[in-house]
Amino acid sequence: MKALLHKKKSLLQRIDDYSEFLRGSITSVCSTCNRANCICTGKPTGRAYRLTYKDKQQKTRTVYISNAQLPEARRMLSNYSKMRDLMDKLFETNIDILKKKAKLKSND
Ligand SMILES: [Zn+2]
Repeated sequence: MKALLHKKKSLLQRIDDYSEFLRGSITSVCSTCNRANCICTGKPTGRAYRLTYKDKQQKTRTVYISNAQLPEARRMLSNYSKMRDLMDKLFETNIDILKKKAKLKSND
């Protein structure tokens, strides 16, 4: 039991490390015509970035991301998969603790 509780504690610490996460995907559009595939003729003016995600009601939402924020947003997006992985591990640990508790009780 002690080992399981220790495992849980270390998982919670790692979850804290990845708590700055974003869900969704980052796409880019032309900053002039606002299209993924630029229709502007002449010099391209650069890309504008946005994060699209689904809210609780499964409605697609868009948040614009400045070029300066792009590296941070990408890092936060990759934190999400780590977060999910850790959540799965936490779930498995909780199941093990639940089983162990039941076993300890039946030994009374
Ligand atoms: Zn364009």
